Amino acid sequence: MAQIIKINVPVSNEYDVYIGSGMRFSTHLLDFCRGIGSRFLILTDDNVYSLYGDALLSLMKKEGLDVKMMSLGEGEHSKTRECKEYLENEMLSQGFGRDTAVIALGGGVVLDLGGFLASTYCRGVPVIYLPTTFLAMVDASIGGKTGVNTTFGKNMIGSFSHPKAVFIDVDTLETLSDEEYFGGFIEVIKHMLLKGGEGYKNVSQSAKALHGRDLSFLTTLIAENCAFKRDIVVEDELESGVRATLNLGHTVGHAIELISEHNIGHGAAVALGIIAEAKMAEYAGIMKGQCFLEIETLLSATLKELSFDVSGVTYLQLRDALVLDKKSRALKPRFALLKSIGVPFIYDVNFTVELEEKFIKSGILYLLEGFKNPC
Ligand code: NAD
Repeated sequence: MAQIIKINVPVSNEYDVYIGSGMRFSTHLLDFCRGIGSRFLILTDDNVYSLYGDALLSLMKKEGLDVKMMSLGEGEHSKTRECKEYLENEMLSQGFGRDTAVIALGGGVVLDLGGFLASTYCRGVPVIYLPTTFLAMVDASIGGKTGVNTTFGKNMIGSFSHPKAVFIDVDTLETLSDEEYFGGFIEVIKHMLLKGGEGYKNVSQSAKALHGRDLSFLTTLIAENCAFKRDIVVEDELESGVRATLNLGHTVGHAIELISEHNIGHGAAVALGIIAEAKMAEYAGIMKGQCFLEIETLLSATLKELSFDVSGVTYLQLRDALVLDKKSRALKPRFALLKSIGVPFIYDVNFTVELEEKFIKSGILYLLEGFKNPC
């Protein structure tokens, strides 16, 4: 009998996450659907559609469910207000009403967009997440952040809105490219840098074991990461405190994504962001000893599996993009930093901080110099 792990997420709209092999065909998923809607829209992207779309659509139809599928171009360029509007118009013209439930089948892009769409369609309809990337499984599935990008920054328009349930089918990881697979692992490293202790000690081992794509190992790893993020989200659902620590590496990471026009993937961008921000913390005297070196060594090992190129990026470009971040205050970027592994830096009661310009500049220049042409 295949291993299935259930994680309860006791937030304002409590839900469960089921992790295991074959989840996308499970009777539990079908029964769950019947309980929350009478018409279903499967939202996916073109890649995932060609791999998993038809099978799910056929199964649901065979089970007598009234279901349609809509597919978007793959990648970050679909995570926009324009795509959301297009989907809303399609749904309205096809008569989808308040009895609709959305099923978001795909990576973080589909989950964020599908979650946002569901949170506003007819003032809110239920959504189920079926994440198919490693990143979406360990990160985007938990916490209720939904949204779209704008030219003014990533995830600038969105809502806090939880899915009704998450079904993580680890089998879908088998078709994921190395780029996406190892990119997703960066969020695991981020979690373990924040957690410290045993979890952190095991992360190098996990990095080695990753290559085998062993589904039992991945099921446990995903469950541990969902549970870690769940605990933080439950403590601070709307990110007024400790949840901001999850933005580790993301101020610089999002800026890199933006100026590369998303040619550098989320995982690689966040890894580079964690390195740059750790260097800033070291220059500012917040992070001491060998900590920076340890973090850089750990991330560099996974960065070797990823392709990225920051050689064309300039300090000024990156500096300007930093303020296009939701955490900025009065046009000053803010950073979630570590004091040491497992110990987030808290200033006063703030989990994100401003830094002096000279530290920001030194951290960025260190990154651009050291990682200029690795691929
Ligand atoms: P993605 O959704 O663009 O997927 C990456 C690529 O993998 C796409 O080309 C997709 O078609 C393909 N793909 C998906 N599943 C596949 C499979 N099983 N086999 C083969 N190919 C597959 O990107 P992502 O990395 O999953 O997610 C990144 C997004 O998630 C970003 O927009 C980021 O902002 C968001 N995010 C959200 C949260 C949150 O809390 N809501 C957390 C982290 C990241």
